[in-house]
Amino acid sequence: MLRTIILGAALAMPVACREYKYRNVETATMEPVSEKLKKYASVKLTADLSHLSEKEKQILSLMIDAAQICDSLYWQQTFGGDVQALLAQATEDERKFIAINYGPWDVLDGNKPFIKGVGEKPKGAWFYPPDMTKEEFEKADLPCKTNPYTYIRRNAEGKLYCIPYSEAHRAECTRAAELLNKAAELADNPELKTFLNARAYALISDGYPASDRIWLDMKTSHLDLVIGPIEHYEDDLFNYKTAYEAFVLVKDQEWSKKLEKFKAFLPELQQNLPVPSEYKQEIPGTEGDLAAYDAVYYAGDCNSGSKTIAINLPNDEQIQLEKGTRRLQLKNVMRAKYENILLPIADRLIVPEQRAKITFESFFSNVMFHEVAHGLGIKNTINNRGTVKNALKETYSPFEEAKADILGAYMVTQLLDKGELQGDAESHYVTFVASVFRSVRFGSVSAHGKANMIGFNFFRDRGAIIRQADGKYRVDAAKTRTAIAALAEKILKLQGDGDYQRAVQWLDEAAKIPADLQKDIDGLKSAGIPVDIVFEQGKSVLGLN
Ligand SMILES: [Zn+2]
Repeated sequence: MLRTIILGAALAMPVACREYKYRNVETATMEPVSEKLKKYASVKLTADLSHLSEKEKQILSLMIDAAQICDSLYWQQTFGGDVQALLAQATEDERKFIAINYGPWDVLDGNKPFIKGVGEKPKGAWFYPPDMTKEEFEKADLPCKTNPYTYIRRNAEGKLYCIPYSEAHRAECTRAAELLNKAAELADNPELKTFLNARAYALISDGYPASDRIWLDMKTSHLDLVIGPIEHYEDDLFNYKTAYEAFVLVKDQEWSKKLEKFKAFLPELQQNLPVPSEYKQEIPGTEGDLAAYDAVYYAGDCNSGSKTIAINLPNDEQIQLEKGTRRLQLKNVMRAKYENILLPIADRLIVPEQRAKITFESFFSNVMFHEVAHGLGIKNTINNRGTVKNALKETYSPFEEAKADILGAYMVTQLLDKGELQGDAESHYVTFVASVFRSVRFGSVSAHGKANMIGFNFFRDRGAIIRQADGKYRVDAAKTRTAIAALAEKILKLQGDGDYQRAVQWLDEAAKIPADLQKDIDGLKSAGIPVDIVFEQGKSVLGLN
């Protein structure tokens, strides 16, 4: 049953893990589904599994089976109707697009319905009764209101009640738990074994925090799994309830080692930051776990619409305070976006003589150094205004992201100078600008979007990025180098001073997309360059039995 409920205009802000979901991308109303499909490039989701043992391949296979169960649970949460009936009345293109969006609502276009006769998607998806109002919820005396692992349902008398996920989906959860326990039996790595057993228990008991803690201690396993009800985005009514998803992952040993090495340079890089000593007095944090992975299967929430390229979990704030988070960068998915989206964009917008400077190695390094660079700079103001976060309030996130962009570029420059990194600075700078073009397509509303524009506009004002008369962009490497130091100083001082007024004013002036750039970005759509990717995935794609 599809109910018509008006969807509010203000949609939830995405955080790091979700790449621009719910953003209204290049909106075109009543666009034919055949056109909508062109926004997605189809990609085979594969990885090199040659170094894995037969047992490890069997474990992957069982993980994929369990992930598929989460996929079916997510369908129930997000669509709630009879999927077969929906598909039966759809055209072939519509069926493909329904599969991409897990329902008849276009995720990249603010969840607008794309099938005739289908109403707006309920804001609370099927976590709540679709006819429940906010007022009814707030008045109701329910113990589970904010519990992320319970549904709110209506009984025969019309009264609201709670039901835990594991109870509502007992058969599926039990089956998924069996698969994880079977995988645990095959696991030689003790950390993986313990985690799989703990997660299996979580699926049937909804006691996720214990297994989250165990997952945070996983350091040595080649294989990894994110599974369960995790993110809150799908509950657009209250953001309380979580949606099922799964990622099956294989660790990239080589890059993970490189990251360990680069993290070791943080204290020295901190000392070299281009600011007076009081702005760099803290010892940079190197404790956060950061590693590179290839994803071999996406299921449920993370596979709907735009594809996540990095994972930062767990979400539980209590556990974050105790143990921090793990940040997993999904290298093969980044490569797929790089090849299918970033390169075609660069072909149109970067001057031909600098096209060869754009490389995946530079793209991936830029992303990784951004992540590492969050650890540089300072967390506390130097004038007793408390933490930078509290002092800068809502302007904190855009500037923290801009800091990571710019100190990431600064780290690259320094490590190249020291001979610790291969390649040349121009390659990193040109690739950075090309990746800004990719991000700008999603608008400048998110913290990352604003950060991108702060950097882009700063560089352009200083002649480090030049837009030619033919609409193509050129990067002046020498001027970029100077601009990186200048912008790093400006942001670090803003953070250290905790100057909220200056931050508001700066954002107001500089976090906007200039009109000519917007025009260039609009041209990408006419050129048919995809916005995101969709996976061809599974055991046969991976060559697993
Ligand atoms: Zn960041």
